[in-house]
Amino acid sequence: MDDKYGRSWLARPVTRNEKEMNTTLAIDLDAINDPYKLPTEVLNTAVSARRLSDSVNIWRSYSDTSFEYKVYLHFFDFEERVDNSEKRIMNIIVNGFGDGVDENKNNVTKTISLSHRDPLTVPLTVEQGMGINNIFIKATSHSHLPPMLNAYEIYRVIPQSASATHQDDVDAIQRIRDIYKISRIKWQGDPCGPKGFTWDGLTCNTNDPPRIISLNLSSSKLSGDIDSTFSNLANLEILDLSNNELVGQVPEFFAKLPQLKILNNLTGSIPGALIEKSNLQLSLEGNGGICEIGSCEKNKNIVPVVATIASVVVFLIIVGIVMAIRRSLRKNEGGISSTSNKEQLKLKNQTFSYSQIHDITDGFKTMIGKGGFGEVYLGTLQSGERVAVKTLSLSSNQGYKQFKSEAKFLTLVHHRNVVSLVGYCDEGDAKALIYEYLSKGNLQEQLSDKNLNVLGWKERLQIALDAASGLDYLHNGCKPPIIHRDLKGSNILLDENMHAKISDFGLSRTFANDNDTHVLTNYPGGTPGYLDPEYHSSGTLNKRSDVYSFGVILLELITGQPAIRGTPDKPSHIHYWVKLKLEAGDIHAIVDPRLKGNYSVASAWKFLEIGMSCLPDVAIQRPDISHITSELKDCLSLEVSLQRNVSNKLDSFLMDYTLIDFNESDIVPNPR
Ligand code: ATP
Repeated sequence: MDDKYGRSWLARPVTRNEKEMNTTLAIDLDAINDPYKLPTEVLNTAVSARRLSDSVNIWRSYSDTSFEYKVYLHFFDFEERVDNSEKRIMNIIVNGFGDGVDENKNNVTKTISLSHRDPLTVPLTVEQGMGINNIFIKATSHSHLPPMLNAYEIYRVIPQSASATHQDDVDAIQRIRDIYKISRIKWQGDPCGPKGFTWDGLTCNTNDPPRIISLNLSSSKLSGDIDSTFSNLANLEILDLSNNELVGQVPEFFAKLPQLKILNNLTGSIPGALIEKSNLQLSLEGNGGICEIGSCEKNKNIVPVVATIASVVVFLIIVGIVMAIRRSLRKNEGGISSTSNKEQLKLKNQTFSYSQIHDITDGFKTMIGKGGFGEVYLGTLQSGERVAVKTLSLSSNQGYKQFKSEAKFLTLVHHRNVVSLVGYCDEGDAKALIYEYLSKGNLQEQLSDKNLNVLGWKERLQIALDAASGLDYLHNGCKPPIIHRDLKGSNILLDENMHAKISDFGLSRTFANDNDTHVLTNYPGGTPGYLDPEYHSSGTLNKRSDVYSFGVILLELITGQPAIRGTPDKPSHIHYWVKLKLEAGDIHAIVDPRLKGNYSVASAWKFLEIGMSCLPDVAIQRPDISHITSELKDCLSLEVSLQRNVSNKLDSFLMDYTLIDFNESDIVPNPR
């Protein structure tokens, strides 16, 4: 949180040849005027090779050679010396080969010597046409100490033709970011550019220099007053501050913004100057104590809070009456049989009787799965729409106490990457949950050796991103947040278009508080291989426990291996297996061999790095799922753009060559 440039720093796993180093030495970075503004925490941790002859390697691959890359290696040698004359001198080699420099490649090399307790950043430029395969850091023959590294950054240089954002807007938005402690990953660099990299939530015009014209800070956990800095965004047309915890009056300074047309969801009374602003729209949804412009105009001098409350109450009464009538009509019509299926999917709190469940499943004819809670049957609603009916076994005594209220709650949870609960049955001992049906089964089956249709690389990335988005919604989009507690491959289901959705959340559901400090005491056991290692010592589960389980799923997607390998008496965890393979630095030994190399090495490294970042034993070191989602999005875009490059190259190649067959070896020169 204290990074001045808003960077996120991720812990990189150490290999067998490395060891972690850290210090509590408090270094005053302002005093040393560090232009790279490294947070103290980043400088105070490092990896070092275990032996003088070992190297510290960065296995990152950026194969798109059309870009120039900037690499920044950060060093802060805080290790106590036995003998002050001991030196740490290192060679840095970009694109090394085997143990050192590849004579046939254009390497970038540099030799540095670290002074004790003196931070040093080494900037390197990797020119266009080279790309990055790896970076080796090795001790020279004159060094007394093994190589080390605190942190690194790698940037792709994107040529920027348009000018930078107007300085007033840059100052204002940076101040807003600092005041409200907004930690969005994409809020780095220039707010409006380059094209395609505008900060999320911002829209800019095409003026020279560009100005910010719309700012969406909805659901951004903003608290406190509305700061006057907003009024410095002089060209703002739309401002959405909905679903935050802002307090106080709607400030009058908004009236001074000449272009402002829409001001969303603010609580508090509206100042007269704003009411008089004729082109301004105010959205009132979900807020008490504000009046709509139209209703205020009749009584401009007094803000009609009482009248507004009264009209809201009247409105609610009318809605209540309409809903009651509709509910009683539905009851009389006999539930599901008289409502269209589309409507059924939308209806909240849909209850089914046991005999309806019996009819829907044709007497429990087709079992499509069996889980810890009971059997799952295929069902068909009267409209023909298919559903999955999960019966809850009588012998199970898990989580029945608040079945009805929990089921009701779950029917309200809707997201494209979360399996929808259509309804439930709660008739004495007969309990069942009715879900939308997903025809392609679960991810575990899809990844299994028995499945002959091997999932492609891009498909795997898309599944990972879908599932991350679903989990992000449960964690950060639901209030109170929903912790899954039993994420695993068999709980990721796939629809006919291979879109992934998270299922089975909420059965063993419990609520977390917003601060992620939820403590759980009656956890039923979870699934071996996916369970947060911290659970054994703490007995608690929180959002970061789900992130751990999600990391295991990511490794399964990458490797095609199950969470637990080996034999029952000698089990081995997939995380351990991947760590061992990582030491050799060979990505091809890690990625599912059934893919036969059909993936880009760059996206494979990134995918793996994302998976590994979810898996530290210490929960606090795991990122929030929103961060993982955004990283996976980048990873998928990287894969897509690399594929596009390859296909463009192939296209131009085929201009001069005729393809006889689909086999590469059959491409022969065109007689032309
Ligand atoms: P556990 O209950 O131990 O967590 P599980 O997640 O496999 O295990 P269930 O959620 O009961 O158990 O599901 C069993 C299987 O039924 C799933 O793996 C899946 O193949 C199938 N299934 C469940 N829900 C659906 C659905 N909505 N659409 C299609 N198939 C489903």
